[in-house]
Amino acid sequence: MNPLPSNVRIREVGPRDGFQNEPETIATADKVRLIDMLSSSGLKRVEITSFVRPDVIPQLSDAEEVLTGIQRRDGVAFSVLVPNERGLERALALRDRFDEISVFLSASETHNRKNVNRSIGESLAGLEQTLETAREAGLRREGVIATSFGCPYEGEVPLDRVLGIAERLAAAGCEEVGFGDTTGMANPRQVGEFFAAARERLDGVELTAHFHNTRGQGLANVLAALEQGVDSFESSFGELGGCPVPPGATGNVATEDVVSMLHEMGVETGVDLGALVEASRAAQRVLGRPLGSHVLRAGPVDWHGVQSE
Ligand code: ZN
Repeated sequence: MNPLPSNVRIREVGPRDGFQNEPETIATADKVRLIDMLSSSGLKRVEITSFVRPDVIPQLSDAEEVLTGIQRRDGVAFSVLVPNERGLERALALRDRFDEISVFLSASETHNRKNVNRSIGESLAGLEQTLETAREAGLRREGVIATSFGCPYEGEVPLDRVLGIAERLAAAGCEEVGFGDTTGMANPRQVGEFFAAARERLDGVELTAHFHNTRGQGLANVLAALEQGVDSFESSFGELGGCPVPPGATGNVATEDVVSMLHEMGVETGVDLGALVEASRAAQRVLGRPLGSHVLRAGPVDWHGVQSE
């Protein structure tokens, strides 16, 4: 077995992936406060919002206000998700407020069509232009591939197709490619085989794993990726977020659960787990319901603590 990476980068995606999936729109001031808590917890990367059409995702219609309201912090890279050229144009009006963009498409034709009403080929052609504009603006670029490990409509998604799309994204200027287990279908053996192949084919590209805990296998999948040398992950504080298919599905793997596991294994993240848990507690108060993360419920591991029972 390979030695585990000694350091791991985590991109917190809750403010985008999480907030956009809440049935009620969260007040802008609450978003700003929660993001400021996250960016001061030691996280080096935070995905702030998405420049999608407000009529499509009203939960994120305050993208400009949020980007303007949050505090910039040295050493913390802010990213925004942009669906297309139009979204990038909106984002570029606030160019000095963020560092990176993420573009996205799905590796499943059916899922991509349901999501953005385009074929995979049409999506790639559009994103190539968007990525070029972003490069000219000096932005770092990540391409995210949804349903990389399985599709709720099509079932198995061939590895070769996913990696082919990743190669196209890399050729179009993505420095980083994120692989999303959008509806939590991945298993650890599959993830291990996936990243072993991805590392061979995508030399020089930062590979990022984005797992959902839909079926409780999020952390096992993180470990399987880690064992293949993956040292970049996306996760969501409080286990917020997730895809509405299947209905009632839980969200992204929780950032505090990932951080806790990594720290217990001696892998550094730079994150202050206590500060991160405070952010999740604050999100619980804002949303008025308990969130799904394990560390939030149980508290961080305390090796020196005295159990009362
Ligand atoms: Zn997600």
